[in-house]
Amino acid sequence: MDGLTGTYRRNVLDEKIEEEIKRANSFKTTFAFMIADIDHFKEVNDRYGHQFGDFVLRRVGEILKNSVYETDFVGRYGGEEFGIILPRADCEGVLRKAEAIRSKIENEVFTIGFESVKITLSIGIAHFPRDAADAAQIIKMADDALYYAKEHGRNRVVDITMVRRSDAKY
Ligand code: GH3
Ligand code: MG
Ligand code: MG
Repeated sequence: MDGLTGTYRRNVLDEKIEEEIKRANSFKTTFAFMIADIDHFKEVNDRYGHQFGDFVLRRVGEILKNSVYETDFVGRYGGEEFGIILPRADCEGVLRKAEAIRSKIENEVFTIGFESVKITLSIGIAHFPRDAADAAQIIKMADDALYYAKEHGRNRVVDITMVRRSDAKY
């Protein structure tokens, strides 16, 4: 477990992705992978301090865990980035769930002293086997979708198929 956020560590999440791929291939099932990254988190740290940043990370981890099924896996995928595996989830359902998470974070008020701080989250989504044949590829697809969300204003959810439709390079 990640000591700060109480979510799985990256290496555990990576193993879970490999496991899910085996399961999906054997039983002809599917899973979704989401990467959620806090927007402009460096500014939160710079403005309110690292300790407050840590408090925000803990709370975001909690919100993410409370937003998904117990059989889903939430892991800390980097400093202010979380990876979520959603086994056997349909594409529309995952979009709805990601949107609910985005909205929950947008509406959460973090308090420090007399100040109220608000943050936003960008989310990238990819599906197995729809978008990828292996673990590295599914992570890359979700990451590309996240990058697109960042480039297009942040505080948004992007499924990699939305990128393919709107970008000639795909
Ligand atoms: P973007 O919207 O593009 O994601 O901008 P960003 O500022 O969130 O992204 P960037 O990658 O530039 O900065 C990430 C920041 O996350 C920088 C670092 O200070 C902060 N961070 C990473 N790990 C931790 C941590 O464990 N605790 C705290 N408080 N901050 C962390
Ligand atoms: Mg960020
Ligand atoms: Mg980041």
